[in-house]
Amino acid sequence: MPVHLSVLVQTPAHSGIGGPLTYLSEEALALGTLVRVPLGQRELLGIVWPPPPDTAEQTNPGKPVRLRNIAGVLAGLQPLKPSWQTLVRFTASYYQRSEGEVALAALPPSLRELSPVQLTRRLQRQSGSAKGKVQGIDPSIPDVSSQTGLAAAPQGLALTTEQEAVLGQIENQKGPFLLFGSTGSGKTEVYLQAVQRLLQAEPMAQALVMVPEINLTPQLEQRFRQRFEPWLGQGCVVAMHSAMTPAQRLASWLAAHSGQARMVLGTRMAVLASLPHLRLIVVDEEHDPSYKQQEGARYSARDLAIYRGQLEGAKVLLGSATPSLESWHHSRPASEDKPAGRYVRLHMPARVGESALPWVRRVDMNRQPRRTIFSAVLLDAMRERIAMGQQVLVLLNRRGYAPVLHCPSCHWKSQCPHCSAFQVFHKLDRSLRCHHCSFAQAVPRACPECGDTDVRAMGRGTEQLEELLAAQLEGVVRPGGGAARIARIDADSTRAKGTLEAQLAQVHAGEVDVLVGTQMIAKGHDFRRVSLVAAIDTDGALFSSDFRAPERLFSLLMQAAGRAGRDAQWSSQEGHACEMWVQTFFPQHPLFDALKRHDYPQFAQDQLQERAQAGMPPFSFQALLRAEARTQEAAQAYLTAVAQLAADLPSAHQLTLYPPVPLGIQRVAQIERAQLLVEGTSRTALQAFLTAWQPLLRSARQHHRQVLRWAIDVDPLVI
Ligand code: ADP
Ligand code: ZN
Ligand code: ZN
Repeated sequence: MPVHLSVLVQTPAHSGIGGPLTYLSEEALALGTLVRVPLGQRELLGIVWPPPPDTAEQTNPGKPVRLRNIAGVLAGLQPLKPSWQTLVRFTASYYQRSEGEVALAALPPSLRELSPVQLTRRLQRQSGSAKGKVQGIDPSIPDVSSQTGLAAAPQGLALTTEQEAVLGQIENQKGPFLLFGSTGSGKTEVYLQAVQRLLQAEPMAQALVMVPEINLTPQLEQRFRQRFEPWLGQGCVVAMHSAMTPAQRLASWLAAHSGQARMVLGTRMAVLASLPHLRLIVVDEEHDPSYKQQEGARYSARDLAIYRGQLEGAKVLLGSATPSLESWHHSRPASEDKPAGRYVRLHMPARVGESALPWVRRVDMNRQPRRTIFSAVLLDAMRERIAMGQQVLVLLNRRGYAPVLHCPSCHWKSQCPHCSAFQVFHKLDRSLRCHHCSFAQAVPRACPECGDTDVRAMGRGTEQLEELLAAQLEGVVRPGGGAARIARIDADSTRAKGTLEAQLAQVHAGEVDVLVGTQMIAKGHDFRRVSLVAAIDTDGALFSSDFRAPERLFSLLMQAAGRAGRDAQWSSQEGHACEMWVQTFFPQHPLFDALKRHDYPQFAQDQLQERAQAGMPPFSFQALLRAEARTQEAAQAYLTAVAQLAADLPSAHQLTLYPPVPLGIQRVAQIERAQLLVEGTSRTALQAFLTAWQPLLRSARQHHRQVLRWAIDVDPLVI
């Protein structure tokens, strides 16, 4: 007698089919079992799921539906755990997406293509390579004590007093923890030893360690492998990020799901990995905006880590030298009138070893000759460093040669024909490229409007700095002889696979004297010989309309400063401390004052005070409704209409709906974009409202056919 089975499949966003579909099966299957099911002409991967509460209403009494049989069971795999199912349900509901979309996107793409037979073969191969351990089919896990022939637990570095104290607190308290540690204070060693202590105490346990950027994973992976493979054997550490091949991703996922992999290192996507014995989650550089997914379910992997930790009883450790203001606020100590935040704040102010944080120097650009790009004092300081064999980092967060070309005779500008943005001039390949829609064309020989041949570059990007430095550093001689070697790292220089690794290796090997780059060079790298960092053109962020711009600038500059003087050997020679230079027209700005003192707490306090007064996050909760259409009017008309429909919804009176506005970059690839901000002081009210609003947003589109897409962004990072 076949039984009814609810199965979750990947359904298109906003299709209205949010919940599971009903199928027939010869046998009852546990929730979380992976199956293959027919849908229309296709066969899809699905997950056995609890039936929706209102099944009775769903089966249309008018039309008898003929249920179809499931096509197969992926019997080699353990069902996905109830806690994983809960995580998916929470993510879908909190970020206003369907469970099917979230659940299936969390599985490796190639799992969707495998038939049960192919999967069995795959599992046999993988377990064969994992020293004969049967995995997947057999839930038993190779525990530490039974691994004969392997070395004893790793020694690790002798801990500093601060590291020891922090590890003790992590062991003895519940958390979640915010580790506030200076750049170079040895946070990574804390992560390594926290993981090690966990695995020593609980042989079955698994740890998840997240980093914001794919380009930081290889370095971290190497440190974890070196530390743990001699102890736990090959395969105890796996990576999980989007730059891996489908086969690699599948292998990592299977290893994590079976419990074979004890440590998963990954980017934000890893937060939804199946980890049946998860006991510890580390979120490194927790302030980094890349933890927020920018399409589909727009989740924050950091926030989900906190939720998941609570759900599964896993400890959560967030780490940063410049925490997000949200995490800083949540970890506030108790004051006279307010209780402490829910996170435990841990401190590691000192750098490891002799090295000090760099001396911050502000160059007042008002006193420089007009159109100065590098001030003479900065150039002198650079020359001196290079002559001593030290390295210099130059940070400019804009790639290309110049952000715009213009014609002085008729004022023509290199406007992108498809976007409300300029095409960027790339001199190396003589192209004009739009960084929003990727539209590219050759640089015109003359002004397309008036024919004047004197078309000029306005402003500057990393390409131009590279060229300029080559000219201005001419004649500087390195200790071993030879001219200064200049390299550039940005999204253009690292497009080909493997180039970033190669370029970074050159820097580490001391084959580069000056490294010019975008924020890619500021984050996380343990450069040993850098003793001078210079930031160019950062003033824009001081007066941005985005209230998070100062927070991002401050953390970028602190991170960049953190690349200097990481090795006392290279920075304190002959009394030359390491330096961070900032060229600015606003040297008195409080942000630079705080930077000079390396005083994140002061900066955070100022910012939080402003936010509290203005009622902005973390003192309020926000969601954005974005709409895209061929015309701005159509996009805004839809938003206006759904705002009117919202008036009677539950909790609407507790929230503010702001009028629709165009996005900062209003048009991209011929599509007009508009958004509406919803704000309130109760997260619960906002959630209840959004859930009730969803069906109205869907149905209103029937009357607004010109709207191509709409999406909700909960806790948006960019407004
Ligand atoms: P962070 O992540 O806080 O910026 P890292 O973990 O990269 O700092 O540590 C900075 C440097 O200090 C690294 O080269 C690391 O190997 C070294 N280090 C960390 N802890 C210790 C220690 N206890 N003893 C000696 N060196 C250490
Ligand atoms: Zn012209
Ligand atoms: Zn464009």
